[in-house]
Amino acid sequence: MQYPEWIWHNGGIKPWAEATTHVMAHALHYGSSVFEGIRSYRTPDGPAIFRLSDHNRRLFASAKIHEIEIPYTLDQLNAACREVLHRNALGTAYLRPIAFRGLGGFGLSAETPVDVAVGAWNWGTYLGEGVLETGIDACVSSWQRFAPNTIPAGAKAGGNYLSGQLVAREARRLGFGEGIALASTGLLSEGAGENLFLVFDGALHTPPTSAALLDGITRHSLITLARADGIEVVERDLPREYLYLCDELFMCGTAAEITPIRSVDGRQVGAGKPGPVTRRLQALFFGLFDGSTPDRHGWLEPLSPP
Ligand code: PMP
Repeated sequence: MQYPEWIWHNGGIKPWAEATTHVMAHALHYGSSVFEGIRSYRTPDGPAIFRLSDHNRRLFASAKIHEIEIPYTLDQLNAACREVLHRNALGTAYLRPIAFRGLGGFGLSAETPVDVAVGAWNWGTYLGEGVLETGIDACVSSWQRFAPNTIPAGAKAGGNYLSGQLVAREARRLGFGEGIALASTGLLSEGAGENLFLVFDGALHTPPTSAALLDGITRHSLITLARADGIEVVERDLPREYLYLCDELFMCGTAAEITPIRSVDGRQVGAGKPGPVTRRLQALFFGLFDGSTPDRHGWLEPLSPP
């Protein structure tokens, strides 16, 4: 992989290769990090970072849940994200802010310094070239999501992604494009790193946040865009078998954007190709970046702040 030249680390920009940490850092041993995934897009008005502030607000929320004190303000982290894009001359990119317990103690509750970094790089379609048009074949994972009051699903924390890795790696090993996890209730939760939407009779159905899922910013954006477009959205408990019965199915997330699912567990979903509601949402979502969907909520945060 070709790495970018510059990265923001603990307060300033430095060469990518110099942003190192000690192998005895707390986060490496115990998963004690919180992070974000953000995308920037080229727009007719120049590059814009999609919901930058909302993503960094969620970073602070994840940090609060895990009592990780981030020694910067929201404005400073937003500025760091902008600076990384500027310095690397990136337009369409993926940004990764992370805060983690660093070197300074080995006990689980050790108060170590908190290290913070923001990297950015070009990252194409997460679930594979061309899948936004063709869709993927998914499977239900043999691994469940963590139960409520075990590991908080609402925090985007490094340790949570051991679960995501089990789900994603099992799916790839079995030849599927992505895995879907059930909650400890047995009801639908989410993909390894994506939220789920099912379409029945033109309406969107999505599992509620009580189903041990990350309350995705893409999920929220799509709910907002759909409702404004007159598409009904229902957040509710959904059993596994509805995956096989729905008219359309897709996954969404910052990395995966809007990825249609054409089959689950070897059973064709709907017509086995992206359906009209999925296509409409793709058009509304990507339209934000070519200007065909008006940005009614200030989601496009310019690279150079006003
Ligand atoms: N669920 C999980 C487990 C994720 O990792 C992600 C990606 N951050 C999502 C859902 C989608 O969230 P977002 O739309 O905020 O990227």
